[in-house]
Amino acid sequence: MTQRLIGAIEAGGTKFVLALAREDGIVLAETRIATRTPDECWPDVAAFFTQASAAHGPIAAFGVASFGPIDIDPASPRYGTFTTTPKPGWSGARFHDVLQGFGAPIAVDTDVNGAALGEWQSGAGQGCATLAYTTVGTGIGTGVVRHGKPLMGFSHYESGHIPVPHDRARDPYDGFCPYHGDCLEGLAAGPAIERRWGQSLSKLGSPPDKVELIAGYIAQLAASLVLLHMPDRLIFGGGVMKTPGLVEALRRATKTRLAGYVKAPQLDPGLERYIVTPGLGDEAGITGAIALGRGLLT
Ligand code: ZN
Repeated sequence: MTQRLIGAIEAGGTKFVLALAREDGIVLAETRIATRTPDECWPDVAAFFTQASAAHGPIAAFGVASFGPIDIDPASPRYGTFTTTPKPGWSGARFHDVLQGFGAPIAVDTDVNGAALGEWQSGAGQGCATLAYTTVGTGIGTGVVRHGKPLMGFSHYESGHIPVPHDRARDPYDGFCPYHGDCLEGLAAGPAIERRWGQSLSKLGSPPDKVELIAGYIAQLAASLVLLHMPDRLIFGGGVMKTPGLVEALRRATKTRLAGYVKAPQLDPGLERYIVTPGLGDEAGITGAIALGRGLLT
């Protein structure tokens, strides 16, 4: 069978991963570029896909898994357009500006929806009917996939901005979210940790009291995801989740928060099988972007 080709972009806050893959997922060409302004990035993106296509053949579809906020409603005239992002130059930029010249259909979704899809397809979420993938890094966000389809409402979910209980006697830090101050992201994302304590938890040596504090905040989201979506599994990735001891502390705090209210075979006693780290590691995003493009092939 002739393999059609998929152009894939994982667009992150610090770097873009660009790939040309066959529809069976085999990557034929891949590169990374630094995230700058769209005016600086688009020529690099166009050059990569032009060269890769010249070497391997025409591109049948594009899949993009991107940072946001971004319009991911395929019915919207602004589909694929960045909306209110504070990143300089990106508000109003659109992936179609650089990709439509290739004449292939374009699927755009969030980075976390892409990662959720990638993990569901070939990572730690295989076999799950409903899967929630959360990243805790520069920001916090969650993608929920049900039967291989990322869920959304009128826009993508914004789980990082849920309110969380904040004991200012224990944790006087005000939080850094420009909208809410001490929302979950404001208290527990990487920048909150570095501004509060001067460096990352890993560089601090993973002190148990600090790990417990951050795990307690993230557990509010984990418990909320269980209550709202009843996923078969929760995956937690991103730079902060690489902190030694954090996922273990998250399991304990989530179990405490749920307090035995939800009983299901999916929720194993220590949550070791329920709350896991990504099976694809840092490849989840680009794998998901390829899957998004594959979804356009008929
Ligand atoms: Zn917020």
